[in-house]
Amino acid sequence: MNENIFKRNALLAQKVIKGLESRNMTGYYAEDREAAKALALSLIPEGSSVTMGGAMSAHEIGLVEALKAGNYDFIDRDAYEDKRAAMLAAYDADVFLSSANAITEDGQLVNIDGNANRVSAIAQGPKKVVFIVGMNKVCDDLDGAMKRARNVAAPINAQRFGLSTPCAKTGACMDCKSPDTICCQFLITRFSRHKDRIHVILVNDSLGF
Ligand code: SF4
Repeated sequence: MNENIFKRNALLAQKVIKGLESRNMTGYYAEDREAAKALALSLIPEGSSVTMGGAMSAHEIGLVEALKAGNYDFIDRDAYEDKRAAMLAAYDADVFLSSANAITEDGQLVNIDGNANRVSAIAQGPKKVVFIVGMNKVCDDLDGAMKRARNVAAPINAQRFGLSTPCAKTGACMDCKSPDTICCQFLITRFSRHKDRIHVILVNDSLGF
């Protein structure tokens, strides 16, 4: 990575971490994917039950593979035939892994969901939530974060899942109400009532979308 981008990301991450702290959440900065994986594992005690909600970034840093290979009770929702049972198990997990669709410089997390299993588990249920967030997700403010979520993350997800939405065809949000829409619920996490519940690892890399 270009040295100037490296320096810029390190400085910007400190601003985001300060914002998270003001919101009763804990932020960390990892200089690369390997450091991010080690940091995440340090937050997850062995023996914990762990699950996740579409956390592409956790896959990209090798965290999911490490958890599956390690001494953890990894709840793999893809292994459940009964999807409702998988969702209910997630609410009772010790740790929930997630990426974010966007995060603001002052520490607010934005996530969009269709089924709402991910946003509901972020909001309530699992004892601890660990976000893995690439620096590509940092936006100036809430308006920018919402625009990123709707015009970058959502269209790519719609294309990835082969959904019939306007954004899957045009690449931009048309504010649809199509049956396939993945924009059913918007969660802005602006404060955590429970200290030590939400942890955000900012990674000096481009992760997810
Ligand atoms: S509202 Fe519809 S068009 Fe806009 S991002 Fe969501 S699914 Fe795509």
